[in-house]
Amino acid sequence: METVELILKNAIVLSMDAQFSLYEPGAVAIQGDHIVEVGPEEQVLEKYKADTVHDCKGKVLMPGMVNTHTHVPMTLLRGLADDLRLDVWLMGYMMPVEREFVSPDFVRLGTKLACAELIKTGVTTFNDMYYFEDDIAEATAEAGMRAVVGQTVMKFPSPDAASFEDSIRHCKKLIDKWTGNPLIVPAIAPHAVYTCTPDVLTACVDLAKENDTIVHFHVSETHDEVQNLRNEHGIPVIPYVRKFGMLETKLVAAHCVFVDHGEIRSMRNAGVGIAHNPTSNLKLASGFAPVAEMINLGCNVGIGTDGTGSNNDLDFFEEIRLASFIAKPVAEDPTALPARQVLEMATIMGAKAIHMGDIIGSLEPGKRADIVLVDISPIHNQPRFRRDPEGIYAQLIYASKSTDVTDVMVNGQWLMREKVLTTLDEEDLIKQANVVANKIDKFLRGREESVHSKLIAIGGAAEEESFEVQAKVTIEDRSAIIDALHDQGVKILRKRHYHEFDTYFAFEDDEQGVLRYREDEFLNEKGKVENVRSRLTLIGERVDEENGQAQNVLLSRTRYFAPATHSLRFYTEYFKPTQSIEIEKDRLRYQIEFKGTEFFVNLDTLIKPELGKFLEIKSRTWSREDADNKTALIQELFKQLGIFTDQLVTEDYLQMAKTAHRNVG
Ligand SMILES: [Zn+2]
Repeated sequence: METVELILKNAIVLSMDAQFSLYEPGAVAIQGDHIVEVGPEEQVLEKYKADTVHDCKGKVLMPGMVNTHTHVPMTLLRGLADDLRLDVWLMGYMMPVEREFVSPDFVRLGTKLACAELIKTGVTTFNDMYYFEDDIAEATAEAGMRAVVGQTVMKFPSPDAASFEDSIRHCKKLIDKWTGNPLIVPAIAPHAVYTCTPDVLTACVDLAKENDTIVHFHVSETHDEVQNLRNEHGIPVIPYVRKFGMLETKLVAAHCVFVDHGEIRSMRNAGVGIAHNPTSNLKLASGFAPVAEMINLGCNVGIGTDGTGSNNDLDFFEEIRLASFIAKPVAEDPTALPARQVLEMATIMGAKAIHMGDIIGSLEPGKRADIVLVDISPIHNQPRFRRDPEGIYAQLIYASKSTDVTDVMVNGQWLMREKVLTTLDEEDLIKQANVVANKIDKFLRGREESVHSKLIAIGGAAEEESFEVQAKVTIEDRSAIIDALHDQGVKILRKRHYHEFDTYFAFEDDEQGVLRYREDEFLNEKGKVENVRSRLTLIGERVDEENGQAQNVLLSRTRYFAPATHSLRFYTEYFKPTQSIEIEKDRLRYQIEFKGTEFFVNLDTLIKPELGKFLEIKSRTWSREDADNKTALIQELFKQLGIFTDQLVTEDYLQMAKTAHRNVG
């Protein structure tokens, strides 16, 4: 008889091996970090004796579950911003807060919070993607959990890198330090196609091939992501990343909501692992991944919680139940993704999906001792039918809860015994997390107070303050003015024709100013649209000074001017204006030089609302004194063009539109 360190006996053992061997009563013999024997209790006890024999009292003993896609430190951002569209949530809230707060200490605390939650839900391995992954690895190893830690790489500056080259250097260090560690597997995590340039993807693939490293990547999560790529390159995500060699790496593709039949076959042939994230896809209304089809075609599909920002918990029993429940209506088939198959996804198939199927995911001799005990005696899981032994899988998937997990072991070490964590102090973690939450609350409260600071928070451009001097008159027709412009005294530098669509956001507090989203269509000689550009301008309150007032010249202050990188819909949802006013106009714009100074002369026809034709003269300036000089020059220029300045219009288009709107309404 051989002696081992530990025998777990009197359990319903679900081995999740290739035959789905099930033993009741069953036992598992463990030596050090690995499993020595799994089988019927009698047989195991005949062959082995142990220093410690643990009576599992009829609980389910199964492999620890594998969370194939998550961002663990985001536990600290749980509940921060919810019920938003993905771009507003990510670019408007998550990324700005992350830029401000994410540090090595932040990720260590967030990781420990996540580890505590994951252990309690029966997860023993997770596949992560975030920043400062070295610190995440340290915190995870301290907690005793197993993880694949994927250092994020993308084209934007991130909390731990000024450039993607920086991130690649972090990846190299991560690989050097953690390769061969018993608990931690280093990985490279290019974020997604919409956040990675070809250079970024190539650098990640090269490094991964050199070191045989796992690559963790968001794939086809939303319809927009795929549509934008199709518009730009004519192909969806999988064929696109194949061009950079990504399918030749040990790839884990998270989400895969919008992948077609051909892409699924490509992934199967390349051995790409897929992480299915049902809660996240539901909460962000991303869609339904074709999971049953993927599995039928032979892909390894695991289950993931995604980060707590989009979930908002790491409850793995909820996740596996949802995976099954969603697959059924999607396939219009109640037999799709039956209970046993879902548990397979949560364990051995998930392990294969993250390219670790050789050491974890099932209870077999030689594999790591990553084990979970689940109590099926509570009232919500009774009575028990024994006619079909496989009924136990349905009990686990459809009726068990995370709170039924009583004991968790990783690599031969107990991390939870009788529902008490052995490596983490829950009370202390909660206290620390609330200190961080208070700080973030303060930061966001400050930011939400002002449109200006909300603009700066989403980045994209440097702030610049300038004044605009402008005066306008109503006109009957354009030709006389165009003739006058071609007379001497005025030098025409440039002429352009636009169709402009302006949307003005107004806010309850006038002092916030007005935010203008402008989309210009450049029209060519034939009046066809040649080019489109969109810009964002925060216009400060009108500066009504005696001087400007007397001469009927509008002086306004621009506080921010930048190319608009998001959609009008994004800005509307992000800024939540109290009023939104649309103005559409045809504009002939002359850039001229008059007495050594440059001006814009605009010949505008207001289309929406129909307010008539105007001649507008404008100039931008950075100082108030200069604004006065320009005001005088504008008066002279009007004279030169044969316009009487007593026809000056003292309102800007926005005010005119507001008045017109009121009159109609
Ligand atoms: Zn994710």
